[in-house]
Amino acid sequence: MKIYDLIIIGGGQAGLSVAYFLRRSGLDYLILDDQKESGGAWLHYWDSLKLFSPTDYSSLSGWQMPETDHEYPLRAEFIAYLKAYEARYKFPVQRNTFVFQVTKADELFKIETNNGNFYAKTLVSATGTAKNPYLPSYPNQNVYQGVQRHAVEYRSGDAFKDQKVMVIGGGNSGAQILSEVSKVANTTWVTLEPPRFLPENIDGRYLFNQATSNFFDETTEAFNRQVSLSDIVLVESVRDGLKRDVYHAVRPFVSFYKDGVVWENGNKEAFDAVLWCTGFKPNLKHLEALDVVENNRIATKDTRSLKEPQLWLVGYGSWTGFASGTIYGVGKTARDTAREIRAYFKKHA
Ligand code: FAD
Repeated sequence: MKIYDLIIIGGGQAGLSVAYFLRRSGLDYLILDDQKESGGAWLHYWDSLKLFSPTDYSSLSGWQMPETDHEYPLRAEFIAYLKAYEARYKFPVQRNTFVFQVTKADELFKIETNNGNFYAKTLVSATGTAKNPYLPSYPNQNVYQGVQRHAVEYRSGDAFKDQKVMVIGGGNSGAQILSEVSKVANTTWVTLEPPRFLPENIDGRYLFNQATSNFFDETTEAFNRQVSLSDIVLVESVRDGLKRDVYHAVRPFVSFYKDGVVWENGNKEAFDAVLWCTGFKPNLKHLEALDVVENNRIATKDTRSLKEPQLWLVGYGSWTGFASGTIYGVGKTARDTAREIRAYFKKHA
């Protein structure tokens, strides 16, 4: 029975980033990923997606993303970069391998997959969030007979031509999708709070710099907020939507009914489709048998599980390190994680 020092579950940007910092570690490790090619969740986002991070903030550790002739890279450009990044460093990735369960006995993890079992002394989970889309629940949601799609299932506006569509969610996904759909359909935008667009004179670079310095310097007044990583970035489609004046957000309705929604004043309004741009939760299903998952989270010190110290979690969001759910932010947590794993093996050599 082959025993790996480490198995990394997930071959997206987070898994690859950890691998980058293990290059000269001498550890015998393998990355398991269920996709048939490199690209992680980016393979599944909508066709016209533009990254909200400018090119220099869309680069992984060690190798800058090639410049494009536009400020914000296209989804396809970032996928090509991820593919090239993986090839450049020759990371050991086994694809088409879905991990459905991890258990542990005698200090060894047993990783059960559609391609048989794997065994490892340590484990990094970097499975992202895309497989766990979040939909808030509203009364009578199951009574509604129109189409409901989460952003992760959205491809393009074509499917909604000439329809009445409600887009729910005030982040970058909601704003980009609303812009596209509003070209072919009658749209209503529902957000919990008035959406916050990044000011015209502030670009994505400033946003990332400012968010980072705010985070690391809590004494600045700016910490109380000037800009935030959740602000809507003015990529081309959003600028276009602003120009066409399509962003009129209203606060949520109170319930669904058969053909649409009921607003707070009791008025009913019919919709052909509802698009949920309401984000994601961590995808941790494969770790449930380890008895570490509670409310979609695992208690950690930085990226290391408190209950299961041979397990690290990378890339899930701020609870696994500042901005670790972004391309720019994941590098630091990946580096620290790799350092801890090396230290673990030094101690247990
Ligand atoms: P993923 O890309 O999801 O990679 C995880 C990999 O693990 C996938 O290949 C998945 O299939 C695989 N996997 C999952 N479960 C299993 C399993 N059980 N067994 C085997 N394999 C498994 N960030 C930015 O910095 N800039 C942006 O512009 C930006 N735009 C975004 C736009 C959208 C619409 C969304 C949703 C997010 C965006 N993000 C952006 C955030 C973040 O960069 C992406 O979500 C990114 O995909 C996260 O990478 P990851 O490696 O953590 O997860």
